[in-house]
Amino acid sequence: MQLFQRLGEYDYEKVVFCNDNDTGLRAIIAIHDTALGPALGGVRMLPYPTEAEALDDVLRLARGMTYKAAIAGVNLGGGKSVVIGDSRADKNPALLRALGRFVDTLAGEYVAGQDIGTNSHDMAVIRGATRHVACVHESAGGAGDPSRTTAYGVSCGIRAALKATTGNDAFGGRHIAIQGLGNVGFALARFCHEAGARLTVTDIAGPVLTKAARELGAEVVSPDAIYDVECDVFSPNSIGAVINDDTIPRFRCPAIAGGANNVLAEARHADALTERGILYAPDYLVNSGGLIRCQEEVLGKATEDFTVYSKVANIYEQTLHVIRMASERGMSTAAAADWIAEERIAGGE
Ligand code: NAD
Repeated sequence: MQLFQRLGEYDYEKVVFCNDNDTGLRAIIAIHDTALGPALGGVRMLPYPTEAEALDDVLRLARGMTYKAAIAGVNLGGGKSVVIGDSRADKNPALLRALGRFVDTLAGEYVAGQDIGTNSHDMAVIRGATRHVACVHESAGGAGDPSRTTAYGVSCGIRAALKATTGNDAFGGRHIAIQGLGNVGFALARFCHEAGARLTVTDIAGPVLTKAARELGAEVVSPDAIYDVECDVFSPNSIGAVINDDTIPRFRCPAIAGGANNVLAEARHADALTERGILYAPDYLVNSGGLIRCQEEVLGKATEDFTVYSKVANIYEQTLHVIRMASERGMSTAAAADWIAEERIAGGE
């Protein structure tokens, strides 16, 4: 599809191609929609094989951020940026500041945050070139890495899924299968464990598995075996597209709720889950806790845990609302979430 055709079809506002020969920066900033507020979205740094793949990623992710903010009741729009390069080899302060100067030219229409390949220390460096940045490390006066807040929100989404499928939202005695024990997954595993859940976990990295077994009493399975675990909730917290034609027939759980983005390989997989009687808590609603934290930081409000966590806790009610709407209207939960988000964006408030 031609670029302007795609921008038109999904109503994108702006795409900025950033080139800086001095630092070698090659980046793209996409602003999807600012109807609800400035477009917030992370800076993803990856060695994209082609520029077309970088463009595709930034457009897809920016639009996803619009929907996430809308469903979470956050007054922010959707944006994203991608930097083409290997974060371990190519990332340096000069390159990050060059990106920050491009962000600054947008005068607050886009606010940068951390994502794959960047962290809260990088956001502190970017702030040297622009004030339009969130997730700045605590040592530089920011709110820091939002992952733990995201994990708390995911735990609220899981509780809603438990409530809808069992009538009881307590973790005690429940069995949660967690895929991915990174920043979000491990914090989530700890929340679930402390609330009394039994855990089965997997990751492609060994040390976190040993730690989860030792500290949380988790049972460890291989990355592929996680799809076959009989459990109350399967919680994907690693890569996208893990709900697909291969995995759907294998799931042995009544519900899926996790922090990973874009877990449905294709939109039709939401219907396939419904047909199998598996409740799907929409990913971009369940993982919106970090964004809710960023909103407070962007608006310059207090980011103490109590204020933020009480707002993130609304993910529980909002997930139940989506589930009810899906059931009443005979649609998938994914379609119900999109409908609610689109109504809010169209209303502009
Ligand atoms: P992370 O990189 O810290 O963790 C990802 C973990 O998944 C790593 O431990 C990695 O080894 C593991 N993993 C990778 N491939 C795997 C596989 N095939 N099977 C099992 N494990 C695998 O990332 P994160 O910040 O924890 O984010 C996790 C997911 O949540 C991502 O999809 C991210 O986009 C999404 N998310 C994160 C946040 C946040 O605040 N960090 C917010 C919203 C959404």
